[in-house]
Amino acid sequence: MIVTKFGGSSLADADQFKKVKEIIQMDSDRKYIVPSAPGKRGPGDDKITDLLYACHQAAANGKAFRHILERIRARYIEIADELNINWDFSEEFTEIEQALKAGASREYAASRGEYLNGRLLARYLDIPFVDAARVVLFNEDGRLMEEETNQLMADLLRGLPRAVIPGFYGADTTGAIRTFSRGGSDVSGALVARAVNADVYENWTDVTGFRMADPRIVPDAQFIANITYRELRELSYMGATVLHEDAVFPVRKAGIPTNIRNTNDPKHPGTMIRASAGQDDPAHVITGIAGRKGFCIVSIEKDMMNAELGFGRRVLQAFEEFHINFEHLPTGIDTMCVVVHENELNTHREAVIRRICELVDPDQVTVHEHLALIATVGRGMVRNFGTAARLFTAISSQGISIRTIDQGSSELNIIVGVDEDDFEGAVKAIYDTFVRI
Ligand code: ASP
Repeated sequence: MIVTKFGGSSLADADQFKKVKEIIQMDSDRKYIVPSAPGKRGPGDDKITDLLYACHQAAANGKAFRHILERIRARYIEIADELNINWDFSEEFTEIEQALKAGASREYAASRGEYLNGRLLARYLDIPFVDAARVVLFNEDGRLMEEETNQLMADLLRGLPRAVIPGFYGADTTGAIRTFSRGGSDVSGALVARAVNADVYENWTDVTGFRMADPRIVPDAQFIANITYRELRELSYMGATVLHEDAVFPVRKAGIPTNIRNTNDPKHPGTMIRASAGQDDPAHVITGIAGRKGFCIVSIEKDMMNAELGFGRRVLQAFEEFHINFEHLPTGIDTMCVVVHENELNTHREAVIRRICELVDPDQVTVHEHLALIATVGRGMVRNFGTAARLFTAISSQGISIRTIDQGSSELNIIVGVDEDDFEGAVKAIYDTFVRI
């Protein structure tokens, strides 16, 4: 049995709804459907969710918002009309308007996009609708209660062989509507997949899966056919985004693979994400490359630092006191380097350095700015000799200097730091060396 989640662009207009229906009809195992709210129909268009946030904002400032609500309603009516569904949504929109006037929350406002789209899709497919507020449970701080949700959902869906469950929202223990962060329908889909113990969680979107590198840098970057959840996590952390970060956990735990598919190219098998790749030998030593700009290295030097117990802890304490997360800690004998996000450091730069000086009395503290980190990820690296050497040669042969190196002991990921100006060049060089062979 398959759980299929459709993103906003897959349901942006009536034509997309028709494609979705065809996809569902193509495989009778596709029993549980999780839709997002209608997304952009093209560049410059608005997402329904953004318009709903705008309504809430206006309402909260005591400004008029009916004209925005009308635009939203018009989009649903247009879809319904073209699908020959006779529905003018007036009752639903009166209810939303009144709720907003009475001070309904921002999360309630945003959730209505998925709620209405779910009802519309359920009607179009002639499949029962289940309000996500009944099956996705949050605590009062707005955090998902995953185990309770799993139980609730499993119990309810056991009695329903097919259902449409809207994504993105649920309700907390007081009954108030709560949402995930943006893109959170991916998480809802993963929760449904876990609750019904699906064979596959299909996530239908507008791209044909993950690419080995950002196509803005490597325009012809190949698609990744198979990737493990761990590899994906490493790549996503470094900026490769197709799936919401939290969508991985429920399905990974349950051993359910996730298949990224393209609604506009349904024959393409997309990217399959599994817990382990089993016997499958990756086509290349590396699975993918991802990276981000906006980091800096704070290096702290002190003679005989290695003999000083608690030195590292005290350095990190200085960052912690200012709520700055550290990303990496490439460390030498008498130097400790802390890689952090530049914008986080800049807010408290002088104060943090002062605190480091107080806590560890270093010989020198320097900050190297404008750093980009690049992660080269691949389960194939363990079994191949010389991957790091090839990687460094690829980068240095472009005249690019590597500022920092970090390889996890899992041999799944090698991270290098280069100057931001060299970022694109380094990514291309790595891609060319490992993929264009
Ligand atoms: N509609 C929500 C958003 O735009 C959630 C989602 O699409 O997954 O973020």
